[in-house]
Amino acid sequence: APRTATWTHVDGEWLSGNPPLIGPTSHAMWLASTVFDGARWFEGLAPDLDLHCQRVNRSALSMGLKPTKTPEEIEALAWEGVKKFDGRTAIYIKPMYWGEHGSKGSIVAVDPDSTRFALCLFEAPLGNGKPGSLTVSPFRRPSPESAMTEAKAGCLYPNNARMITEAQGRGFDNALVCDPIGNVAETASSNVFMVKDGVVLTPVANRTFLSGITRGRVIGLLRQAGFDVQEATLTVADFRAADEIFTTGNYSKVSGISRLDDREFQEGPVTRKAYDLYMDWARESVER
Ligand code: PMP
Repeated sequence: APRTATWTHVDGEWLSGNPPLIGPTSHAMWLASTVFDGARWFEGLAPDLDLHCQRVNRSALSMGLKPTKTPEEIEALAWEGVKKFDGRTAIYIKPMYWGEHGSKGSIVAVDPDSTRFALCLFEAPLGNGKPGSLTVSPFRRPSPESAMTEAKAGCLYPNNARMITEAQGRGFDNALVCDPIGNVAETASSNVFMVKDGVVLTPVANRTFLSGITRGRVIGLLRQAGFDVQEATLTVADFRAADEIFTTGNYSKVSGISRLDDREFQEGPVTRKAYDLYMDWARESVER
């Protein structure tokens, strides 16, 4: 049973709880033709919800699915849905597409005309804001020719799950993950930044990892505030030598990192500034 209040919009109806949507004949269940996106609603704000709704449609297209909703329709449904959570402080907004059937030519390829859509919303209280710890993962991101790395696809996440499980097994919160040739890509659930001598650096978007919506927003806000922000090829050694490390993602927004393996970090001024800039922008975007 779901742990929290959950509402799902599917085929024109709002259903509570955990309605059964896919069966043993579903292509999605058998061959993982699923894509999703995630946006966090909190304090009446859903920063960049429009971009998250656009991205889920792009993810669907890269999976060979055919989006059945426009981004604007998904956004409108999300705002309708959050009203069902009266008084709740934070809700995760998760639009999803999946394939029901194989194509005419092959049971392996998905039939784009069998694409289905659901929008699932559930209560997701904000975390405690405590900085997390990272360890370098023995597992890596796939290269773009080995997986649909440009899509937010469910089939990519078992690899992330084993990174997190392995890191947690060694007492860390999350994993610092490299790309196929060993440069830093991201963490197992967020994008990653480092600060060195006042310059803000983040791995260059080389298509092996999700160039996140929060990442783009934070780069823009920091540059507007006068910071030198560069996308660069960065090694684990660069991160170990950093003054500050922080992560970005829709779920936790901007979070500081307190430890990378045996190296400890204090929460630094740039991390704090990036957090404040993001929150101020999110609050102002509601007034606009
Ligand atoms: N990388 C991975 C693997 C993620 O799961 C996420 C969270 N969606 C991100 C990066 C951050 O992306 P965004 O800012 O668009 O949420």
